[in-house]
Parts: sequence; C-alpha cells; structure tokens
Amino acid sequence: MNTDAFPLAARHDRDPIVEIGGVAVGGRELVLVAGPCSVESEAQLRAAAQAARSAGASILRGGAYKPRTSPYAFQGLGEAGLELLRAIGEETGLAVVTEALEPGQVALVARYADAIQIGSRSMHVAPLLRAAGESGLPVLLKRGMSATLEEFLLAAETVMLAGNDNVVLCERGIRTFDTYTRNCLDVGAISALKRLTRLPVLADPSHATGRRELVTDAALAAVAAGADGLLVEAHPDPASARSDADQQLEPSELADLAERVRRLAPALDRALPGPVPRGEAAPAEAAELDGVVRQLREQISDNDRRIVDAINARIELVARMHTYKAARGLPLYDRRREDALRRELRGSNAGPLSSEGLDQLVTELLELTRRELARAYGRPGRAA
Ligand code: PEP
Ligand code: MN
Repeated sequence: MNTDAFPLAARHDRDPIVEIGGVAVGGRELVLVAGPCSVESEAQLRAAAQAARSAGASILRGGAYKPRTSPYAFQGLGEAGLELLRAIGEETGLAVVTEALEPGQVALVARYADAIQIGSRSMHVAPLLRAAGESGLPVLLKRGMSATLEEFLLAAETVMLAGNDNVVLCERGIRTFDTYTRNCLDVGAISALKRLTRLPVLADPSHATGRRELVTDAALAAVAAGADGLLVEAHPDPASARSDADQQLEPSELADLAERVRRLAPALDRALPGPVPRGEAAPAEAAELDGVVRQLREQISDNDRRIVDAINARIELVARMHTYKAARGLPLYDRRREDALRRELRGSNAGPLSSEGLDQLVTELLELTRRELARAYGRPGRAA
C-alpha cells in the first residue's frame, strides 16, 4: 500500500498515545470501553456503567444518536442521552465516548463527551470527519463495514488534516458472504493497522460478531492480534435492549470477558487494569489503581530526560562555537543573533506554550548556558 496517500496517519514518529478524558489509549495498558448500544434510561445507563467499571473499563460508551439501518427503529434519546452520559460518567469516574451522526451535531456532542465516535456508516462522510477533526476532541473512528484499509486510513487522514492528531481507529467487522455472524472481525487488519500507523487501534467484537456467545472469543483474538483495547456492548438486561439485543453482554459476561483478557495480556507484554469494586476508590485512587497516572508519569519522565539531553547538547554546541570564535578573535556575543533566535522559536512554537512563556524559557536557557560555560570553561559572555 502506498502510505504516501496518508502522510499524517502514517507518521511513525508521533506519540502513540491518545488521551480520552484522562485515559491513555495506545500504551502498554489495554483499555476497555464498555456500555450499552443505546442510552435508554437513567437506570439502564447507571447499571451498565457500574458493570463496566467493576469489570475494569475506564471509558463508558453508549449511543444518544443511533445510526439505525431502519428509520423505524429506535433512534436514540438525543441530547437527553448526552446529559445522562455526562452525569453517569462523572458519577462512576468513567470517561465518555458517544457518536455524532451529523456535522451539525458535533459541537453539541463535544459539550458532553470526552471523545467523538464516528460510526461505521459514517466513515465516508467527509464533512462529518472534518467537523469531528475541528472539534479538537479525540475521535474514535470506526471502520466502514465495506471499507478497505486504505479508505479507512484516508478517513483518519481527513480528521487529522482538520488539525486533530488524536484519532483512535476501531476495527468493528466487515461484510463478507457469510450471514451466520453479523460481520467478520478482520483480525489481520488489526495487526496491519498497527504496522501502517502509530494510531491506537481498538476492536469491537460486539458489532463484529453480532452474537453474544462469540463476543469474548473475538475479543481475545483481537487482543492477541495487537489491539490496544476493546469496545464492548454491555447491558444490564440485554433481552430488553432497544437496539442490538443479541450481542450485548450481561454484567457477569462482561466481567468474565475482562478477566480472560486480563489473563491473556501478560503473554503479550500488556496488562488490563483490575476491576474496581463497586463504590470503592475515590477518583484519585482509581487513577492510581488503573495505572493511568503511572503510565503518564513514565512518559513525563521520558520527556524530561530528553529535555536534559537537549540542554546538554546545546551547551556543548555553544562551547564549540566559542572556541572557534575565540581562536579568530570574533566577539562571543551577538545581540542580533539572540533576537533572531527568539523570532525563530516563536515562529516554530506550536503551543500550548505562550509567547511570554517561550520568551522566559529562552532567557533562562541563555542564562543557564552562560553560567554552565563559565563554570566548565571559565569563559565570560552570553551565549546565544
Ligand atoms: C456503535 O458502536 O454504537 C455502532 C453503531 O457501531 P458501528 O458504527 O460500528 O455499526
Ligand atoms: Mn450497537
């Protein structure tokens, strides 16, 4: 495949982690996204969220706007569903992902959700992809049921081109000739996507199989193939569900799925955070328990080590330049160079560092370089 067609999605030097409401997706720890197909009522969503949380999920899913194949089927609760998702997500300490169906819905969904889901039926809708990209929220992009991997990655590219780097891909099964399962989980696509991109890849074994009894096996296969997490439909009483009743897991089945993934994960050098017992753990402790804080701290330390290395390299370069200039009797300090450096850095600063913050940083950096050079080589003068 010619990866030049999607340069942003194919970038291999990006940070592989996308953060959804404080949850790191794409790191060593697997992420479980669980919840009902549709938000139906407060009681239903609360019970589903509690089941998700106690199974070890960190993100709550649930449709408020449903992309139903039949226009006569339940279309979702709309904004009332979004309100329930936000309230119950906060109550249970879960981040929230939910689908936007139309470009005009994106801003509203973004007010309530931590990530915007683009459904399989919408993967080709460029205006929706652009609107989701422009929202600035992470985008959970599901593969079109008949989309090639190239089309899928071009859809991701469309979101990224709108200025949004935070795309999570989701393989959710593709259409084949067989009708026994609802779709066919494309296990090979999961490992292919992990090779073609550095975007996190989730798998949705619920829509892939359409059959409750097959969901856990498909989930295990997806994790074995390298998925960074799972998106699973679960309902307190699947038989009464207003959509996708055949594929939603009961709370005990969701707990069993999570437990089996938890046992498989170490063989793949991964882990799934443990279940959080009902009512236990304040949000801060929960963050410790599910390892997100630990994982983010590791990344912060890595980053800080790179900053120290870069400062050391700067001091050495300036020392070399001073030696060169001193040998030729050139002035060590040039004010115009310092101004030019500040301008250059302002031009390349992509934020969130403000211009004032950047100016302070440059001043500190120049001072630090001067002091360190004086200490190491006994040389005077400012070093730009
Ligand atoms: C969903 O996850 O809510 C959904 C509708 O799935 P898909 O878009 O993959 O059919
Ligand atoms: Mn569904």
